[in-house]
Amino acid sequence: MKRETPVTLPEGFLDFFTELENIQNQQQILLAKSVQFDTFDLKKHLGSGSRSFIELHGLAVDPLLYKSVLTVIIDFLKQKRPELKESMEKLQLELDRLDLKQIIASLIVSDMGDHFNELAPRVELTQEMLVFTFEQALRPFLRVYARPYVQDLLKDDHHLWQFPNICPICGSKSNFSRVSSSDNRRFMFCDRCFSEWETRYLQCVHCGNDEPSSIKYLNVEEDDAYHLYVCDKCKGYLKTYDERQKTKIIDLYIANMETIYLDLLAREKGYTNHDD
Ligand SMILES: [Zn+2]
Ligand SMILES: [Zn+2]
Repeated sequence: MKRETPVTLPEGFLDFFTELENIQNQQQILLAKSVQFDTFDLKKHLGSGSRSFIELHGLAVDPLLYKSVLTVIIDFLKQKRPELKESMEKLQLELDRLDLKQIIASLIVSDMGDHFNELAPRVELTQEMLVFTFEQALRPFLRVYARPYVQDLLKDDHHLWQFPNICPICGSKSNFSRVSSSDNRRFMFCDRCFSEWETRYLQCVHCGNDEPSSIKYLNVEEDDAYHLYVCDKCKGYLKTYDERQKTKIIDLYIANMETIYLDLLAREKGYTNHDD
């Protein structure tokens, strides 16, 4: 059953992302059988103050395997976005000419530089759409990579990660958290690699402020499960799903998408996720 949200999302918006997630899940399951990544000491890493695992150690992805996932994503986009069909077909024909290894390396550090300067006009796609397409094809690999750490990250016997809004595994920025119903702990969620890591319950994930008087809680009428924590020191906000208000297990990826109304509310009140 779909939740009623205070803001009407564009037609088909959630269906698109739900189907994309399903396709990525299927690819992840296939990859998990054939791909093995090196694993590293999580506890040491969390306490070390260094960057994310992937930025530190890179991600050894076989370009041929990546190309096969990319083809699945391109086919999906062709089907779901008929207006992009022709461009996606052109892109498909370009794949053998591209340095996919270099593209993967750039995606990992989120710095695409001028990779797509020539490609974008040739296939008649925007740079944003190209980055989106290549990034979505990388995510099943990132999720396989992150898998060995999922359980350990949820344990409470490690140091807290010192960059609360940055994923310790893939380095992506997060602006979504959940508060656990069993023990009231707060976990940040990464929609890129699906890792969750603990942060302090009452602390701004952007600036570290922990004075209770300057951290406020905002919610939308009649919706106690989804709310915002806002910080009056840095004007940052954090979206939160409070499991204590609902017993149902939710898909955090979709929850993050469908709570765009909370992003709008936060911005309207003068808060930012410090992304732009
Ligand atoms: Zn991540
Ligand atoms: Zn703050």
